[in-house]
Amino acid sequence: MILTTTAPVARRETQAFLDQQHQLLIDGQWMPAASGKTFEVTNPADGKTIAEVAEGDKADVDKAVAAARRAFETGPWPAMTASERGKLIWKLADLMEQHIEELAEIESLDNGKPKAVAAAADVPLAIDLFRYMAGWSTKIEGTTIPISVPYLEGAEFHSYTLREPVGVVGQIIPWNFPILMAAWKLGPALATGCTVVLKVAEETPLSALRLGHLIQEAGFPPGVVNIITGFGETAGAALSAHPDVDKIAFTGSTEVGKLIVKAAGDTNLKKVTLELGGKSPNIILPDADISAAISGAANAIFFNHGQCCCAGSRLFVHRSQYDQVVEGVAAEASKIKLGPGMHPDTNMGPMVSRIQQDRVCGYLDIGMQEGAKALVGGKRADSSGYFVEPTVLVDTHAEMKVIREEIFGPVVAAVPFDDIDEVIATANDTIYGLAAAVWTKDISQGHRIAKRLKAGTVWMNCYNVFDASLPFGGYKQSGWGREMGYEAISLYTQTKAVTLQIG
Ligand code: NAD
Repeated sequence: MILTTTAPVARRETQAFLDQQHQLLIDGQWMPAASGKTFEVTNPADGKTIAEVAEGDKADVDKAVAAARRAFETGPWPAMTASERGKLIWKLADLMEQHIEELAEIESLDNGKPKAVAAAADVPLAIDLFRYMAGWSTKIEGTTIPISVPYLEGAEFHSYTLREPVGVVGQIIPWNFPILMAAWKLGPALATGCTVVLKVAEETPLSALRLGHLIQEAGFPPGVVNIITGFGETAGAALSAHPDVDKIAFTGSTEVGKLIVKAAGDTNLKKVTLELGGKSPNIILPDADISAAISGAANAIFFNHGQCCCAGSRLFVHRSQYDQVVEGVAAEASKIKLGPGMHPDTNMGPMVSRIQQDRVCGYLDIGMQEGAKALVGGKRADSSGYFVEPTVLVDTHAEMKVIREEIFGPVVAAVPFDDIDEVIATANDTIYGLAAAVWTKDISQGHRIAKRLKAGTVWMNCYNVFDASLPFGGYKQSGWGREMGYEAISLYTQTKAVTLQIG
């Protein structure tokens, strides 16, 4: 079902922001791209242009990296105490809180997600992340280490470690959670005292630009956060290959993740953290609370229109419950109202772009050709926007593309299973390892399965539960390193061992 009534217009301040000339934030100044080029940003609900932004490329990245380097080495930022840094981050969170509605509208118009979801989840989670990371600023400590050097008998030493910021960080983020991904990246970088060049996704640059204004209002010194709008092959590639960038933190496709690793290796061996794709298994055991598992399975795949790296896109259900569960998930899918994100009744918005819509529908076509059947959905919705119907695929088998590859849309492939060893082997039979879930009332069994699943996150009797304190990241080709929690702080710092000979 697609909503046809007109969505409310954006608030005055949102429209005023969209109408601005959107430039690059470099060294505390908003400026046009060196080339003078711009590109259009569209609303995926109707394909109409909503803003025009500067198209940054290598020349702008060079300028931004130089500014970030100056800000890292000299001036107020390295001179600030950890407490002062934490207060700035907290102030940014407060400012975001004052602008939740506006940020949610920008996110909805730019990405397509329902405004209510952005206001209840994306923006509050981003605020919470900043506050969590603000707290870490004052808690980054080294250790003292008693050493006993065998070849220097009798000598006495005092050894300790310092945890120091990694330096100038290039951050490249995707379009599925634009403001939240910006927060996941900026939070730990700022808490540890790094400086940043943030390259936002070309599909969804707007909320990060609004965040840039709030960063200035909060009082971060010039050059600490630089924001580049532009394309992956130009601006993104220039940032990942830049010899004066100390670390790249990337979220996006596994394919581009591999390019980033290569660029780092070919230049200065900068440190790399990656949060990549997934094909997450969601396993329902015969003793599960079936109605909770059905709504959990629907949430696992349809949240954010399936455009989640951790989407529960492979649904494994014990054969005894299979028909009931797939029919239940299909019934949930058919209740979902598609519509513009700004419409108050919309449950699911469009795909982020025509390219994504075509990509998802391409997978649906291949799946049907290979013998899968859509219990519900299975095609694009008839609209000028980039909508895809929520889809439950059955009659799938292990070799199908819809089982093996990340679709990144509202498409779940259901598979029955008969025994635990079999389902664990099938669940782990993927190049990915980002997330997994298991539904059971037998908690011991649940923990045993959690241990055997090769994934960075395992949810039990729930799905899509995120918290700023929980590390998130992938096994296998789903990534390197972790976001959030102390692990993120640790990956934006490096250890220095200092040894003093006493006497
Ligand atoms: P992508 O990986 O191409 O883009 C993500 C970010 O990387 C964007 O900012 C983009 O500009 C940048 N980028 C692209 N090419 C680059 C390059 N050569 N060097 C440096 N940066 C570059 O993702 P996409 O094309 O937007 O989506 C394609 C697929 O990626 C999706 O269908 C989905 O499977 C996956 N994806 C995963 C996530 C995730 O959260 N893990 C997010 C978005 C997309």
